[in-house]
Amino acid sequence: MSIEQLTALEIGRRIAAGEVSSREVTAHFLQRIEGGNARINAFVHVDPERSLQLAEDADRRLAAGELTSPLAGVPIAIKDILCEEGVPTSCGSRMLEGFAPPYTATAVQRLLDAGMVPLGKTNMDEFAMGGSTETSVYGVSRNPWDLERTPGGSSGGAAAVLAAGLAPLSIGSDTGGSVRQPAAFCGVCGLKPTYGRISRYGLVAFASSLDQVGPLAHTIEDIAACLQVLAGHDPRDSTSLAAEVPQYAAQLGRPLKGLKVGVIREHVEHAALDGAIRLAVERGQQQLAGLGAQIVEVHLPHTQYSVATYYLVAPSEASGNLSRYDGVHYGFRQVGSAGAGAASPLDAMISRSRSVGFGEEVKRRIMLGTFALSSGYYDAYYKKGQQVRRLIANDYQTAFEQVDVLLGPVTPTTAFKLGEKSSDPVQMYLCDLFTVGANLAGVPSLSIPAGLDEKGLPLAVQLQAPVLEEPRLLQVAHQMQRAGFFEQKLANDTL
Ligand code: GLN
Repeated sequence: MSIEQLTALEIGRRIAAGEVSSREVTAHFLQRIEGGNARINAFVHVDPERSLQLAEDADRRLAAGELTSPLAGVPIAIKDILCEEGVPTSCGSRMLEGFAPPYTATAVQRLLDAGMVPLGKTNMDEFAMGGSTETSVYGVSRNPWDLERTPGGSSGGAAAVLAAGLAPLSIGSDTGGSVRQPAAFCGVCGLKPTYGRISRYGLVAFASSLDQVGPLAHTIEDIAACLQVLAGHDPRDSTSLAAEVPQYAAQLGRPLKGLKVGVIREHVEHAALDGAIRLAVERGQQQLAGLGAQIVEVHLPHTQYSVATYYLVAPSEASGNLSRYDGVHYGFRQVGSAGAGAASPLDAMISRSRSVGFGEEVKRRIMLGTFALSSGYYDAYYKKGQQVRRLIANDYQTAFEQVDVLLGPVTPTTAFKLGEKSSDPVQMYLCDLFTVGANLAGVPSLSIPAGLDEKGLPLAVQLQAPVLEEPRLLQVAHQMQRAGFFEQKLANDTL
């Protein structure tokens, strides 16, 4: 069996047993990237020499008995939104052209400390605003299952590299679905942990009260192992949780007998939901019942307001976070003569840099957010958004008083065609219908594969659990995986 067909943990086991070195594994994936990346445009930056150097370090540290993670020596792809010292980090934006951060994100540092080997940076929608990886300055990424389709977004590259076997594991970020939706479109697992479970230090901020780093992988065991490396308190992120980190692998084998699973009525009966995805949720329901879980119907009554709420809260926070890009502090600068209306040459430079450096969607969000926060409109938009956010979070709380986990769809449709929604922002926003709730409520949420539809495109379902109940989420998903629910394989072995 070829290395890219192994799980990350199996690769780690073989490295630890001395059957293969981290250097050999890393070289194998670098070679696959060289051969296959051009067709999907999923990696936007690779530095083979650096990756091989880190792999050799891992081999040395393993030999010295310094590494204990079962993922030691295993390569991993990193979304272009996480800072690594000296490594280009551009968030898919012209605005960060040539920017190499002077420090490393805590999440990435934890991977390095565990002896994992970054393979490179993966493509994304500009500043993580989008659901199709079509707004990147590096061009669109493609779905390995069908090259005419999107891999999803914004962490499209992170999901595509897994489906194409160009990396065994990856990390992305999820503000309103950006780990789960690409995972769903590419037939892999993607976890958005509880808000605050993984440090946001060094994660370029989009909407700070919603952003969360999350792993993508082929199996639940790999997700659990990667979360183990990433999770934990970080004094550098004031919103990071101090709660103890449990042993995520420990609960995977536990039977589901007696567990209550709530099927979200407003999601499964939504008019926009594809029939094949509805059937996948039903199949999940039947399988969970067969495994001893009790299935009940639950309501998230404010579902219909979730997209509107998210698209007030997220752009409002983004408009503040993105004010730091002024042509002075980072990357891109556009100079020129002060145009009419500019108060000073400095104002003109800032305005030109932002006009040219940001893409259309990012500017749309900045304007939306600035409007929602402006005096006179604040109460009607931002404040109202915050109030409805509370109602949505309360819906989750009420649901979790009745059940242990929630089951539903991740997306209304399977992967759509490139270009299909890029000219209509509202159509694109509506795709986030089932994912934004978990971010607004701060709860952990997991996308798992559910086989293929009649077009051969990946199907997926979503599991959600109360705050910090990742072990329960992973336990349920793992039992489903064991019972054959995922039916996955690599998308395209010809890459
Ligand atoms: N598609 C959503 C948006 O465009 C979510 C993005 C994300 O999670 N980063 O805002």
